[in-house]
Amino acid sequence: MKQYPAFPITHGCTDRTDGSFGSRDERQQWFAQHYPHTPYFEVHQKHTGTVLVLDGKVQPSEAYNTTADAIVSKQKNIIMAVKTADCVPVLLYDPAAQVGAVIHSGWKGTLANIVQKTVHAMKQQGASAYHIQAFLGPAINACCYSVSDKRIAAFTEAGLPVHGNSLCLAELVAIQLKREGVDDIIAPITCTSCQSERYFSYRREGPDHGTMISFVCL
Ligand SMILES: [Zn+2]
Repeated sequence: MKQYPAFPITHGCTDRTDGSFGSRDERQQWFAQHYPHTPYFEVHQKHTGTVLVLDGKVQPSEAYNTTADAIVSKQKNIIMAVKTADCVPVLLYDPAAQVGAVIHSGWKGTLANIVQKTVHAMKQQGASAYHIQAFLGPAINACCYSVSDKRIAAFTEAGLPVHGNSLCLAELVAIQLKREGVDDIIAPITCTSCQSERYFSYRREGPDHGTMISFVCL
């Protein structure tokens, strides 16, 4: 698991060495071991633009059955996590308002601008774009992510700059964050597809791919 000292709250991004996390049970067990007595929240990810706000009443099982691709909360001592294998995991935190979020933004989520919807949901919880810090976890890079002309056209129509026929999703997510006023972005250059010794990749491994978990705990 990798943690980045510059990101100011408890967080992490798993890799191959932590396991492949095929089931919710495996994920829950791993978190119970590493963060005992800390409720674990994940949502039913479907590449949507939908955000779930945890207000203290939502139970982990209810979140798990909710279709969404981002979670926002001010609750302390809970884990909020997203699963990825090429898509961009985005961790957000406003240290002034103490509001956190996790986002799963693949190409569909990026087109749906789930980043914008999540930042808006954070603002409704008292956050301000000026204070929000962002961390982008391991994702597929342009070197391994050439896509169809049709998909490139969809990004261009959405007002996102694309060069050639490859997508760098992390770069596009960073542009979306900046458009919302979030400038404090940590985005180490990674590629889940070519860094195969370290990461799982849907594009490289197909439907039987393993999963990485990215999480925050306020
Ligand atoms: Zn690559």
